[in-house]
Amino acid sequence: MAAAAALSDLPDYTDEHELFRSTVRKFIAAEVAPHHARWEEQGVVDRSVWQKAAEYGLLLTNIPTEYGGGGADFLTSAIMVEEMARGIFSGPGFRLHSDIVAPYILHHGSEEQKQKWLPRMARAETITAIAMTEPGAGSDLQGIRTTAVRDGDHFIINGQKTFITNGQLADLIIVACKTDAAAGAKGISLILVEASTPGFSRGRNLEKVGMKAQDTSELFFQDVRVPVSNVLGQEGRGFALLMTELPQERLLVGITAVGVMEAAYEMTLNYTRERKAFGKPLADFQNSRFRLAEVKTEVHVARTFLNDCVARHMRGELDVPTAAMCKWWLSELENRVVDTCVQLHGGYGYMWEYPIARAFADARVHRIYAGSNEIMREIIGRSL
Ligand SMILES: Cc1cc2nc3c(=O)[nH]c(=O)nc-3n(C[C@H](O)[C@H](O)[C@H](O)COP(=O)(O)OP(=O)(O)OC[C@H]3O[C@@H](n4cnc5c(N)ncnc54)[C@H](O)[C@@H]3O)c2cc1C
Repeated sequence: MAAAAALSDLPDYTDEHELFRSTVRKFIAAEVAPHHARWEEQGVVDRSVWQKAAEYGLLLTNIPTEYGGGGADFLTSAIMVEEMARGIFSGPGFRLHSDIVAPYILHHGSEEQKQKWLPRMARAETITAIAMTEPGAGSDLQGIRTTAVRDGDHFIINGQKTFITNGQLADLIIVACKTDAAAGAKGISLILVEASTPGFSRGRNLEKVGMKAQDTSELFFQDVRVPVSNVLGQEGRGFALLMTELPQERLLVGITAVGVMEAAYEMTLNYTRERKAFGKPLADFQNSRFRLAEVKTEVHVARTFLNDCVARHMRGELDVPTAAMCKWWLSELENRVVDTCVQLHGGYGYMWEYPIARAFADARVHRIYAGSNEIMREIIGRSL
């Protein structure tokens, strides 16, 4: 059979990428794997793993060196995300920090904002989050109620956010606010808020079904006063900025989904070869072989589609509907594949100590966040 498809099939993939991958693997083996179970218990990773990631040169790799980043291409980000996914290590919110928040600042920030924040983010002195969702508005972002009211050279922010990744650790948060309640989508602005600003507070670290080592929080804003210069891009352009940056976020979910599926396949193949029932390895039952054959095929198709999406993105051609296809289809498939793999593990597949159980719990949210899969179908449907 042909070797499994991989990111390394892409023409842009070089020896340097392979070297970077081996650095990521060393980092995960030394700094993530030994601690992940403890982080799951505490509901948040140690801040020190962020500093270690910075020391290994793994944060903001796709940000230019003049802003303290790694100056590398998007493939390096993809490798980092893929390796974390393959280990089923969803704790550290590096993906959100390096490949979601940093691009917002790079693409839409003022020179001053870029100089101030990106180098600190690369050094892990500043951990970041992006807060769009509210208790009353998730998919329907135009329905947010957090307001930013102009007062001279400042905005005064009042409101509440929920489900915010890195919420407990974040030092800097991009907050989606209504700056003009009457203007619909055109009334939304993105504003940088430092966690040290008076009036900002963190709520509960929410207890989740999966991704237990990653902090997800409520955030509160009560008369939080920030200078007008903290607006990202122009006032009233927040919704438009979100639309330009969301395709990469959705592609990153696709990369995670495929990394998890490939790992799930491999661990299940090994497990069914070792585990015996009725005097022979599980893998020798026709049903096991058929299920594994299906999974192998599906993962191969998924990888081929994902590589096409990554290649398009590298050329600057990943459009909004294709990114939506990538996100919904790969995350749906991931859930199906992981469920099959749990079944082939029997009772052990339901035990938390088995990575396949973590993969099962973690995968569920991929169909919900970064735009729910129903919204993805809406986006594709509208483009037809
Ligand atoms: C672990 C986790 C981490 C998260 N991290 C962040 C973060 O860092 N920052 C952030 O801002 N948000 C974050 N979110 C929030 C996430 O983006 C939202 O949960 C998601 O967008 C869905 O919004 P909602 O929960 O309000 O559900 P709702 O919008 O209430 O949707 C409920 C259901 O209705 C469906 N639905 C809604 N509208 C339509 C429609 N027009 N047509 C058909 N069906 C529809 C949805 O698909 C869904 O099935 C996170 C969520 C989780 C669970």
